[in-house]
Amino acid sequence: MKRIFECGHKGKGKFCHRCAQEKEQRENEQQRAARREAAKKQWAASFEQDPVDLRGFPKGIVRKARHVLTRIQAGASIAELGGKRMHYDRHILSIPVGNGYRLICQDRNGRVVPQLLLTHEDYNNFHP
Ligand SMILES: [Zn+2]
Repeated sequence: MKRIFECGHKGKGKFCHRCAQEKEQRENEQQRAARREAAKKQWAASFEQDPVDLRGFPKGIVRKARHVLTRIQAGASIAELGGKRMHYDRHILSIPVGNGYRLICQDRNGRVVPQLLLTHEDYNNFHP
């Protein structure tokens, strides 16, 4: 037997299943939004750990740059990293990151010290 609930919906049972379902959907949406917000915050906070500023670069490039930075920390050689020395200063290194991005590093007595990440465009205009 159908009845009219307080909310105005018609249905069977002790409570309005339509409203209950809508409430559940709202709660799920809130949970998803909260998770998205937490992931966003976590992503924003992750930049504070980077030895160079990677903010503003595409996510895929940030990940690739971090991979390169990890390899540098692990002691990978300039050759292993595919890096090359700049003709105007042999102590400045350019290491490719993904397609068209370059990680500029300094060679300090054989130690590779990351300086900054550049787009290909910025790299072409880059002279320290
Ligand atoms: Zn209802």
